[in-house]
Amino acid sequence: MRFDILTVLPELLEGPFNHSILKRAQQKGLLEVHLHALREYATDKHRQVDDYSFGGAAGMVMKAEPIAACIEQLLAERPYDAIIYTSPDGQRLDQALCNRLSLQENILVLCGHYKGVDERIREKYITLEISIGDYVLSGGELAAAVLVDSVGRLIPGVLNDETSALFDSFQDDLLAPPVYTRPAEWRGMKVPEILLSGNDKLIEEWRHEQSLQRTKERRPDLYEKYKSAG
Ligand code: SAH
Repeated sequence: MRFDILTVLPELLEGPFNHSILKRAQQKGLLEVHLHALREYATDKHRQVDDYSFGGAAGMVMKAEPIAACIEQLLAERPYDAIIYTSPDGQRLDQALCNRLSLQENILVLCGHYKGVDERIREKYITLEISIGDYVLSGGELAAAVLVDSVGRLIPGVLNDETSALFDSFQDDLLAPPVYTRPAEWRGMKVPEILLSGNDKLIEEWRHEQSLQRTKERRPDLYEKYKSAG
């Protein structure tokens, strides 16, 4: 799976993909992440990527031309399954959307900055707009990092234990159960006895029960969804 990320601040994205699971995914050839500096696509002598907002609103707006030049160059090289703009008014990113995107081959992600991108770019190229939550970031780069991380780990073969993503929170509308590691007793606090019992069936039942309880307490909205999907 290939991500192309268009940004005015590629430096912000040099760290997140070079460690741990995403690094291994790239080493295994399952994931490619390409950063594109929009400034390099600006043709004027100051390499300007933003300009004032028409109508006198405060803040700068990302110019259409450099973004269009970059998108068109990439589109000439390969088709994209999704051309995404990160935006607070987009569809909220959730596990179902991550699952769906993890089956795609080529995804382009445009990161906004300042007041956002010229609306005409959204009209002309963008096929999906994604928000990572109801708050405003100063740029789309962190949202793009969240997207690549949450989708990248779902690509088959990326996680060592093939099944483990299936048991993460949200996969079945339930939150994950609590987890423990050694020592079995720490500062007088013991690991639940059942986890040491070796009885896989009982352990599975306990985990499911914990998931249900946790979801009911912390996310009644999800719990209702789980029950009605029943
Ligand atoms: N004026 C815009 C916010 C601009 S913030 C508005 O009120 O909607 C600058 C950029 O950060 C946006 O263009 C977008 O790409 C990114 N961004 C901000 N919050 C985001 C969020 N919750 N999810 C995804 N991207 C976000």
